[in-house]
Amino acid sequence: MTLRISVIGTGYLGATHAACMAELGYEVIGLDVNAEKLQALSAGILPFHEPGLPELLRKHVASGRLRFTDSYEEVAQRADIHFVTVGTPQRADSQSADMSYVDAAVDSLVANISGEALIVGKSTVPVGTARRLSERIEATAKPGSKISLAWNPEFLREGFAVKDTLTPDRLVYGIQDDTCLAKLREVYAPILALDTPEVVTDLETSELVKVAANAFLATKISFINAFAEVTETVGGDIKTLADAIGHDARIGRKFLNAGVGFGGGCLPKDIRALQARVSELGLSQTMGFLDEVDQINLRRRDRVVSLASSILGNQLAGKRICVLGVTFKPDSDDVRDSPALDIAVRLYNSGAEVSVYDPEGNKNAAGRFPRLNYVESWREAAKESDLVLLLTEWKEFRALDPQELGEVVSSRVLIDGRNVLDRPLWRDQGWVMTGPGEKFDL
Ligand code: NAD
Repeated sequence: MTLRISVIGTGYLGATHAACMAELGYEVIGLDVNAEKLQALSAGILPFHEPGLPELLRKHVASGRLRFTDSYEEVAQRADIHFVTVGTPQRADSQSADMSYVDAAVDSLVANISGEALIVGKSTVPVGTARRLSERIEATAKPGSKISLAWNPEFLREGFAVKDTLTPDRLVYGIQDDTCLAKLREVYAPILALDTPEVVTDLETSELVKVAANAFLATKISFINAFAEVTETVGGDIKTLADAIGHDARIGRKFLNAGVGFGGGCLPKDIRALQARVSELGLSQTMGFLDEVDQINLRRRDRVVSLASSILGNQLAGKRICVLGVTFKPDSDDVRDSPALDIAVRLYNSGAEVSVYDPEGNKNAAGRFPRLNYVESWREAAKESDLVLLLTEWKEFRALDPQELGEVVSSRVLIDGRNVLDRPLWRDQGWVMTGPGEKFDL
């Protein structure tokens, strides 16, 4: 019999997971509390940017294998395996993760399940959450129902979400018994058939694997950015430094690009939540280095703002700044905790006229900060600008022609916040430019 699956929370992770589960051949129902999102998804329209996902969504909405609802009752009736993919953002009043969405989703499921079911958490959560939820399920489940809980953290990257879901580097399950394991193996059989490594473990380890992976990646980025601070002061070439240490197989070259720092809906809040959680456990010093990782990361933004200001004579009022890229990374429209958007807003708040162009992120950025001048092309953004900032390394910006851009601007001055442009080529065309890790004297 075809597996009947639900996905609770159809944001970046949930919509991807739902469409990919349908691609694996299952009957899938997605649930969200956001009516607008549901309306779009039900019409086969993806409400965010993710390469390859619109095609999958359309295909499976059309085939009838993928549907959406706001009814927990319907979900409980139509599915036996429920993936929980709701958000776990940073709380407004602390560094901890806000668990209210996960708790609400699980409570609503439990209140509606009468028979046998498996709930599989995929959201990134503080260690101990699954155990707590498991006890809560046992205490509140309807008489006669049999509900198990497993944790199956997700490692997909926005921009590669479909590929990462259908061909992940590994699958990790935190389980409490063999029945859960058998069910998860059934769900993931087509992926396991590709020789995907499988890590079977307890609930706590599965929760920790996810935050450990993100803490490691964040640390690696801040590590190279700390060296960028050194070369910005003493001179030296941060890219050569990264290449040289990256040749060491024990270190590896990935995630060693000095830049404007990490952002998005995961790394920043995940390292803060981890630090908060271990402090709650009485281990406040253990993850203390993550505070430093966070601070180094945030200083990257300060550096671009102060560099822009000094380039413009410490007088931002009335200066025209062109910002290329506002998403936290290319191939995504996600502007959550985006360094690029933060920099643009800070320059605007200091009096500059800021024109922004991002291939996919303008709409989300305008939703958060409507007062920036959002335009539809790099050419429009750069028109008569005194300074150009390249802050997200979209392919379109990597391919910019220094001569073409030079014809539009007032002044050929550029901060390459991602170190992606060919310095000699641009300097030959009369551009004054700098970037992370570069000692820059006016
Ligand atoms: P998101 O904000 O895009 O999506 C969350 C969705 O959950 C929203 O659509 C929201 O309306 C819905 N929701 C909230 N409360 C609900 C409820 N009670 N019932 C049903 N739906 C509800 O967030 P996201 O980026 O998809 O992240 C979700 C989780 O996955 C987070 O824990 C995140 O850390 C983790 N994660 C995200 C990614 C990523 O790249 N985005 C990767 C790995 C893990």
